[in-house]
Amino acid sequence: MRWALIGASTIARQYMIGAIRAQGGKIMRVMSASAQRARDFAAEHEIPASGSDLEEACRDDAVDAVYISTTNEKHLSQALAALKAKKHVLCEKPLALSLNDALAMVRTADEAGLVFATNHHLRCAGSHRAVRALIASGRIGRVLSLRLHHAVFLPPHLQGWRINSPGAGGGVIPDITVHDADVARFLLAEDPVSVVAQMASSGLGDGVEDSAMSVWSMPSGAMVMSHESFTHPFAGSGLEVHGTEGSIFARDVMTQNPIGSIDLVTASGREAIAFDRHDLYQEGVRRFHLAAAGGGEPAATGLDGVKSLAVALAVRDAAARGARVTVNYGDLH
Ligand code: NDP
Repeated sequence: MRWALIGASTIARQYMIGAIRAQGGKIMRVMSASAQRARDFAAEHEIPASGSDLEEACRDDAVDAVYISTTNEKHLSQALAALKAKKHVLCEKPLALSLNDALAMVRTADEAGLVFATNHHLRCAGSHRAVRALIASGRIGRVLSLRLHHAVFLPPHLQGWRINSPGAGGGVIPDITVHDADVARFLLAEDPVSVVAQMASSGLGDGVEDSAMSVWSMPSGAMVMSHESFTHPFAGSGLEVHGTEGSIFARDVMTQNPIGSIDLVTASGREAIAFDRHDLYQEGVRRFHLAAAGGGEPAATGLDGVKSLAVALAVRDAAARGARVTVNYGDLH
């Protein structure tokens, strides 16, 4: 698979270039709004071509797929340009700023018969897959509740648009709640129906929220409690799933790396659960390559990205209005 990178971003630099190359992908070019930044990025990562022209990047015949990791308000137009040029697309989350925009991206890809995937890495983790398998195999009985702990400290080098730019899609809800929505959907295999929520600015957010807590109702009757923040240096991350026959405690698993631990507690006692510790982003790229070759779906589809965004939008709306909000998933199912 021959890739173009749209966005000279931190996530591309830190994870995705390595993941694409480790999976046998070739990175043919990088595009940035600044030609100089694109040139510097290309030189740093030994990428043969660079530029600031989106159309030029998209119409390159030497490119099969595009990875979009710009700020969130740019994803829509860049994805549509890539799809128009018949490229498969792996797009960062949140797919877009509005549900309609995200739906338009997925519809366009479907009509063109192209792969369109969302880079929700957590469902690629061995830890999350192990938790999902424990639930699906009935080890904890009927699921009563899920608690998602995802309050972290945003490192200084990322304290830009995320904490001060509503226009770029800043705020912890578009940034982290979307991931948590995908985790809940992946683990429980059902979609949140309605949410109540509170949000706050607790030290970093300037015009956007840096912290959110919400409770989601699931069709089965299970309840999900979700906590995201940019301002918690020592909280650690994790998730707990509680069922009628047992509880699962997964520590340090809401991360970009294959770390953490899982304990299963039942009437028989406490058991440490082993899981595969492969690279999360490589697994996403592996599934994308397979999907583009006709071998099934990507790890997280475009529809998964639409649904995680729908939940995040409902959380923000619920927090802003102090009301219970029914999640609007639009007309794609
Ligand atoms: P960055 O802030 O590093 O990059 C975003 C954009 O900012 C770049 O595309 C670039 O624009 C611009 N930019 C970068 N450096 C500079 C600079 N020195 N001066 C001015 N502009 C600059 O963002 P992230 O990599 O943290 O996030 C990018 C996207 O990836 C977001 O959608 C985010 O939600 C998502 N993300 C997903 C993760 C995951 O695990 N799935 C993890 C982290 C982020 P240009 O393209 O024009 O050069």
